[in-house]
This record gives sequence, C-alpha cells and structure tokens, in this order.
Amino acid sequence: MTLQTRIDSDKCTGCEACLPVCPFNALEMKEGKASVNDQCTLCGACADECPVEAIFVPVLEKGEGSEEYSGVMIFAEQRLGKISEVAYELLHKGRELADTLKVSLSAALLGKDVSASANRLIENGADRVYVVDHPSLEGFTDELYGECLTRIIRTSRPEIVLAGATSIGRSFIPKVATQIGTGLTADCTDLSIDTEQRLLLQTRPAFGGNIMATIVCPQKRPQMATVRAKVMKKGVVQPGRSGEIIPLEIDWAEMSPKSRLLEIVEEITEKVRLAEADVIVTGGRGLQEEKHFALIRELAEQLDAAVGASRGAVDAGWISYAHQVGQTGKTVAPKLYIAVGVSGAVQHLVGMQSSDTIVAINSDPHAPIFDVASYGMVGDLFEIVPEMIKQLKARMGNN
Ligand SMILES: Cc1cc2nc3c(=O)[nH]c(=O)nc-3n(C[C@H](O)[C@H](O)[C@H](O)COP(=O)(O)OP(=O)(O)OC[C@H]3O[C@@H](n4cnc5c(N)ncnc54)[C@H](O)[C@@H]3O)c2cc1C
Repeated sequence: MTLQTRIDSDKCTGCEACLPVCPFNALEMKEGKASVNDQCTLCGACADECPVEAIFVPVLEKGEGSEEYSGVMIFAEQRLGKISEVAYELLHKGRELADTLKVSLSAALLGKDVSASANRLIENGADRVYVVDHPSLEGFTDELYGECLTRIIRTSRPEIVLAGATSIGRSFIPKVATQIGTGLTADCTDLSIDTEQRLLLQTRPAFGGNIMATIVCPQKRPQMATVRAKVMKKGVVQPGRSGEIIPLEIDWAEMSPKSRLLEIVEEITEKVRLAEADVIVTGGRGLQEEKHFALIRELAEQLDAAVGASRGAVDAGWISYAHQVGQTGKTVAPKLYIAVGVSGAVQHLVGMQSSDTIVAINSDPHAPIFDVASYGMVGDLFEIVPEMIKQLKARMGNN
C-alpha cells in the first residue's frame, strides 16, 4: 500500500494555512477543503502548520526485509589501477559508521589487475573486499561497472553503500540505485547514524546551497550515498591488518554492453594544482581589485603554494573559475589553507573546512571564517600580507 498524507475533511476549515508552507506544491483547495496531490513527499510541513490538526502524515517505518541487510560497503574507485584517495576517505568514514552500528565494513573493487590492491583497502579499515578483476573492466564504463556493483550488492546485502561523488561515481551510482530499487542521496558533505532507528543521516546542501538538508531512506535498503572527495578525512593505515578477500566470477558472456571505451583523452585545460597542493593561499573580495591578486600570488610563491579564490573574487573577474574553492568550485583539504579577505560564507567553508590548519586574515573580527580558523589575524590584508612576504623572504635569504 502506498503511504499517503490524509486530510480529515470534517476537521479542515479551509483556512489555506497549509498551502504556502508546502515546498512541493502538493496541496490544493477542492470544494473549500485542502486536498493532497501526487507531489507529496510526506515531509510533514503542512501538518505542523495546520491549526486544527486535520492533517495526518504517516510515519515511515523501516521497509519489509530490511533486517536481511547488514554492514557498510564502500565502492573503492580506482583509476589506471591506482586506488583513488576518495576510497580511503570513504573507508575511514565507513569504519566509523560500521563501528557505530556494530557491523562489518566491506569494499567493492572493480578493474583490471587490481587484486593486489585489495590488501591496501584492508589496511585502511575494510574487513572484507569483493574483487572483480577482469580485462573488460580496464577502462570505466557505466554499464559494466554498474552491472558488477549491482551484483555484489544483491549478493552481499549491505545496509549502507557509499561511493565518491566523483565523475565516475556520479556517472554510474544512480544507475545502480535504480537497478536495486533504492534511494540515493548525492553529494553528501556529512554522514552519521541515528542509533535509535539505525538510519543513515545523509547531510548535503539543498535549495541552492542556502540550507543543509539531512535526508534519510527509511524504507528501502541499502541506503546509498555519494560523498564529495576531500570532505571526509583519511584514516591511519594499519600495516598487517587482516581481512577477507573475495574474488568474484562474472559470466561475461551474459553481458552485452551497448557502449565500449575506445580511448581516454586527457582534458587540456588550465592546470591548477589545487586538489594536490599541501598549501593553498586563497584570495577573496577583500582584495578589492584584480591587480591586488599579485599579493596572493607572491605569498603563494614564497610558500610553494597553489592559489585559490572565493567565488566573490571569481565572479568579479579577477581570477579564473579553475581557482574557485567551495560548493560550486573545488573541495580541498591541504595541510595549510590561508584565507585572505574571504568572509567565510557557508558555500566557501564546505570546500575547505577539512584543511589541517586554517589561517584567516580579515579586517572584520566577526567574519565567519574565524569560526573555522586555527589561527586568525584581524587587520588590513594590505599591511599583513606584505609583512608576511617580507619575513618569508628574509627567512629564505631571498630579499
Ligand atoms: C549556490 C551558491 C553556491 C556558491 N558557491 C560558492 C563557492 O563555491 N565558493 C565561494 O567562495 N562562494 C560561493 N558562493 C558565494 C558565497 O555565498 C559568498 O558570496 C562568497 O564566498 C563571498 O566571497 P568573499 O568571501 O570573497 O567576499 P565577501 O563576502 O564580500 O567577503 C570579503 C571579506 O573581505 C574582508 N575584507 C575587506 N577588506 C579587507 C582588508 N583590507 N583586509 C582584510 N580583510 C578585508 C571583509 O571583512 C569580508 O569579510 C556560493 C553562493 C551560492 C548561493
């Protein structure tokens, strides 16, 4: 039976208070009474607003058979046989979730000549690694990777599946979720467990990044989420940690993919090494003019750092989009992040708050960047930055 919001027409006074609070336009007036259409998502906003308690939103119970699913699984993405960093980040988060739920953590590893890497996943927290190692998986294609991961999930039945929100993850994980018939929360920035209900709490920016929404999937299993690279921290490697490696055989004759990978062509764009940089110096609108970015470049040069920018600076046309850090730019987690004249809007913070050490330079002592900063300098960047450059040059004997 499909769950539906119900309106008690005897109680409904037709006051229309529920109409404007529905974010999905799921309520309309019919013959002077509120009525629910098929846009309803059972969010409950209308019931909270109704002054006469005429609206009943069913509480979602766990789906039938959900007890057959157990454990946390991560998709261990690899490129050209090398495990991607995001896989280690997911293993660390996955381990935390699995320990909270008191279940095991597994990894799904697909590719050609990847079996030797399975141990690395165990040393990074996996209890079990399912491996499909076959020449057909040398290059990534949605169809073959999707089919293999779907089969692994169907046979091992994890209650949670996590993958990176990378171009690969974004490309085929929705297909896997659809094939399995479960939900998927894309681009999560935080994950935790509601221990009472054993539900995965999946947090991600919503409504254009203006609010953070926490999404649950109470009825279907597994609960699936993709997570942005660099948002979660990697754990400590435990050399010699033991676990189980399970090679899986696939009947390749059964597979009839409609697409075939011909060639991988490296993108030719401006190379900004933000993602790999250990140190990033970022400039914001506080720089006031394009020419003042020279200060940021000079400081970056002294620190052998990459140059980042807030969207404020990018939108002003002072620097190219390739340098943008944040929700609609790059997510970074360097050892040192220096934010100069950046206010620290939530959309910027989401892209850099996992950095090990954050130094903020801002003339406004109440700027939100100071809430995440390890060290803050309140003052005029045009005095502070030249002094930093001078001192760094003096130290390097580089006047
Ligand atoms: C959907 C959406 C997505 C977004 N994505 C991103 C994103 O990916 N990345 C991003 O950065 N933003 C993003 N934004 C924009 C974000 O909300 C902010 O508008 C933006 O980050 C502001 O940039 P800023 O900090 O450089 O500028 P401002 O907010 O104008 O801050 C400038 C700061 O400089 C300080 N300042 C001024 N003069 C000096 C001085 N002489 N010395 C020292 N400090 C000084 C000020 O006190 C101020 O705090 C997004 C917004 C939306 C709605």
